[in-house]
Amino acid sequence: MSFTLPELPYSKTAFGDLISEATFNYHHGKHHQAYVTKTNEAVEGTDKAGKKLSEVIKSSEGGLFNNSAQVWNHSFYWLCLSPEKQEIPANLKSRIEADFGSVEKFKEKFKAEAVGHFASGWAWLVLNGDKLEITSLHDADSPVAHDMKPLLTIDVWEHAYYLDYQNARPDYVSALLDNAINWEFVAKNLDGEGVSRADQD
Ligand code: FE
Repeated sequence: MSFTLPELPYSKTAFGDLISEATFNYHHGKHHQAYVTKTNEAVEGTDKAGKKLSEVIKSSEGGLFNNSAQVWNHSFYWLCLSPEKQEIPANLKSRIEADFGSVEKFKEKFKAEAVGHFASGWAWLVLNGDKLEITSLHDADSPVAHDMKPLLTIDVWEHAYYLDYQNARPDYVSALLDNAINWEFVAKNLDGEGVSRADQD
């Protein structure tokens, strides 16, 4: 069985100006689709065919690693977004307050990591043991390859924001963090409930 492009869990016009339909058409319809197609081409006829996406990522390097990790990262990213502004569930909010001081301090730190990340990559909130941590990974690299527990990501490749924000990565990150995060999904990832959805189990 080959991997498929997951459908977006909302309409491509649902975010208005925050994330435009044109961005979804390119980012989901072209970029994410291309990663899926290239991953399928690379695993076809090999001993990786039929493996879970996370297993392909962990057992690969070079082009296949990059494409399969990008399939996973993007699948996870779409699930992190919500067109309706959400409150942070109480269990996640108390963890954020315990580890970062306050929601505002968490957002400041996450934004600094996302904006400061040089060139292409992904900003992540992960669970490391019992602690929440903010980190970023370069290019296609994924927490799946490092046994980190991902809770939230924001794609900071230019293709994620250039059509809507041009080079203003800080505006894109702030807009998403303040208005468009699916905090219920993020909270579910504390116990791993949401993560497997990106793995095409
Ligand atoms: Fe992307």
